[in-house]
Amino acid sequence: MDKYDHFKLKIDAKPSLFHKQTVRKAVGVALWGKIRKEVLQNCEPTSCSICGYQPHNDQTHRLHVHEKEEYDFENIVVKLTDLDLICVNCHAFHHFGFTQLKASKEKMKELKQHFITVNKCTIDEFEEYRKSLIFKRRPQGQKEVVKINSELSFQDILFGNCKVRYAIAGNIPLKELIIERLKQKGVYYEYN
Ligand SMILES: [Zn+2]
Ligand SMILES: [Zn+2]
Repeated sequence: MDKYDHFKLKIDAKPSLFHKQTVRKAVGVALWGKIRKEVLQNCEPTSCSICGYQPHNDQTHRLHVHEKEEYDFENIVVKLTDLDLICVNCHAFHHFGFTQLKASKEKMKELKQHFITVNKCTIDEFEEYRKSLIFKRRPQGQKEVVKINSELSFQDILFGNCKVRYAIAGNIPLKELIIERLKQKGVYYEYN
């Protein structure tokens, strides 16, 4: 049990090997649009599942469908385990590496405010929590150690030449269609 277990909103970041690799991109805009519609319909009331934010009708774009994933480093597979409806501000904390790169100072300030409101904590606790995560990921300056399929060279990984495949582990809307599309594109990975 960790000190921050009670936080509703947590910080997460995607491992660099899988950056920009998502089922959403793999299946294309049209199918993803249908999936999003299903997720919105299944969610009653239509609100952020973390902070409860409920947009007005013309603001539903502020709710994002976040892909919950697990990573298989050995076979280079992104496993989609669930889809969460969350608001744009909560979402920023689930892709925190990206957010830190892209967000302006002003935006970062707004996001921190959101974090401390949702978690009912202080700004110091936020900073402490953030630092604890960096420490966990890279103990004493070591690089992230990952077990990678030996057929891949470091060069391949660095330049994104390794092919990422996808598995659908959770009970996702339109699951069959998604799998079919991934198979068509040759990026489906089947676990026995
Ligand atoms: Zn939220
Ligand atoms: Zn997301």
